[in-house]
This record gives sequence, structure tokens and C-alpha cells, in this order.
Amino acid sequence: MRIVVSGGAGFIGSHLCDRLLGDGNTVVVLDNLLTGNRGNLAQLKAEPRLCLVEQDITQPLAVEGPVDCVANLASPASPKDYLEYPIETLDVGSAGTRRMLELALEKGARFLLSSTSECYGDPMVHPQVETYWGNVNPVGPRSCYDESKRFAEALTMAYHRKYGIRTNIARIFNTYGPRMKLNDGRVVPAFLDSALRGEPITVFGDGSQTRSFCYVSDLVDGLCRLMLSEERYPVNLGNPCEMTILEFAEYIRRMTGSRSEIVFEPLPVDDPQQRKPDITKARGVLGWEPQVSLEEGLRPTVEYFRGLQMAVA
Ligand code: UDP
Repeated sequence: MRIVVSGGAGFIGSHLCDRLLGDGNTVVVLDNLLTGNRGNLAQLKAEPRLCLVEQDITQPLAVEGPVDCVANLASPASPKDYLEYPIETLDVGSAGTRRMLELALEKGARFLLSSTSECYGDPMVHPQVETYWGNVNPVGPRSCYDESKRFAEALTMAYHRKYGIRTNIARIFNTYGPRMKLNDGRVVPAFLDSALRGEPITVFGDGSQTRSFCYVSDLVDGLCRLMLSEERYPVNLGNPCEMTILEFAEYIRRMTGSRSEIVFEPLPVDDPQQRKPDITKARGVLGWEPQVSLEEGLRPTVEYFRGLQMAVA
């Protein structure tokens, strides 16, 4: 297939490109490099089946030649990033998603939307099932991301219903692995960076909030399966292995052999208290479930962050 990946120079996008090219496909990456970077695709520099176009997908664009699939992964995704770029985040989910849907329509291509567990907001249903409509504060600081993705889901369904585009929607839960940025602000790079330096690990709130962490190769495998499926409604992709953030801090300290102390800072506004995917649907529809344990996934991630720290030292 010839696949357009918007956001292909980002963390998950670049891993998706690796996988798609490894499977023999051709990939056109559209990325404005706002939060992504070319370095994420450096390993593919000599790959003739990859083409990187520096393009803001909210602006008019054209892709020459046939396209079989459009995978729309472009968006700031870390709370730190989307709080810094709230307007860009709203634009890419709305205008950007619209342009990608128009591209799919023009080319007769399939369309995959990378959505988010943030659609559930601070969830009242636990674990989260796809049929839960969520509990999102529409005017809170996180709303630029949550509502942008919820709008993107609505737009995707509208294009499917109106034009019959073969669409898929992935609701992606917390994902980690190499190529996250050291200063990304998300909990995995933040804790690892501190632990490896021996500096205090900062837990927000009392650390009783929960998350469930999925290794990036598992997530990408789920996206590839979903991209070929006929499931039009959202599918959760994540690892149901849930822990509190305080447990996670202690786990990171143990596994890195760090002597960092754990310190506490105020909880960000609207920080979800609990999050765990119900993946019954992904198991049934895609035959998918995560294969990589937290211990196995953190090993290459730690090595990656050690390398980054040495490079900046
Ligand atoms: N968190 C933390 N310390 C940090 C970064 C994050 O305690 O340095 C907490 C954050 O408050 C949240 C959880 O870790 O409860 C996951 O945060 P992240 O930014 O990774 O993603 P989220 O799931 O909130 O989108």
C-alpha cells in the first residue's frame, strides 16, 4: 500500500512508519515538526520508499499519485505540549483532520484516526469501555486536546456516513518507548530522566491517580490491525495493566537502581483520577492484546533516555 502518515515524525508516528515500511509499504510523511522531529526518522534516511514532506496539515496541501490509506496521527499529545500550543492543537484536530479526510475522499483511500483515552476525560466508568461517552470539562485547560479529538471523531464518523469512507478510530491510552522527548513532560520520560540523574522524582498530587502503560510496538501493532479492519466505531488500544502514579515512581526507582527521593507537587487541573482501557473489543475484533510487559518495555526505553542524557551532557 501507499500510505500517508500525518505526524509521522512524532513519537508514535515514526514507529508506525518503521513498521509500515518493514511490511513492504510505501510511506509519505506529512509533519510540520512542531512537536515531532526529523531525528525520529533518521534510521530511515536511506529508505527510498519513505518521503518526508514538511507540511502543516491545517493548510492547503496536495499529495501526488495514488494513496491507499491516510493515517492521521498529527497532534501535540503531551499535556505540556498541548498546553503550550492550545490553538494549534484545536486546529490540527479540526481543520487538519478535515484536510486528511478530504485527501482520503479524493484518493478513494481508507482513513485511520488516532484518537485518545482523553475522550473519556476524568472517567466515571472504570475501566473505560468504548460505549462510555466520557466526562470532559469543555472549558478546562485540557479541553484543547480532549475536545479537538472528540471533534475529530465526530468529523470522521460524519465523513464515513456522508461519503462512505472506510474509516477507523483508535482511542490510544498512555503509550511509552524510545523517541519520547526527554523534556516531553509526560510521566515516563519525566520519571526516567529524574531517576537516571539521581534527582527528585516529582509526583503530582498524592500519586493515587492511576494510569496503564502500553509499549509502543504493541500500540503500533494494534493500529496496523485496526487500519485493515471494517470496525467503524472507536476501539481502545492500550495495556490494561493499571498502577498508581506513586507505585510507578517507586517501580522506576527500583528498576533503575536510583536513589532519587520522591517529592510531591500540586495535581494539574482536571488530571484524570483513574485510567485503564477495557480492551475486550480490540481482543474480539482485531485479535489484539499487548505482548510486552512493563519490565520488557522499559528496558529499551531506559537505554534510549540514557543515550539522550549522554548526548546533552
Ligand atoms: N505526572 C506526575 N509527574 C510528572 C508527570 C506526570 O506525577 O512529572 C502524573 C500526571 O499528573 C498524571 C500521570 O502522571 O496523573 C500521567 O501524566 P502524563 O502527562 O504522562 O499523561 P496523561 O495521562 O495525564 O495524559
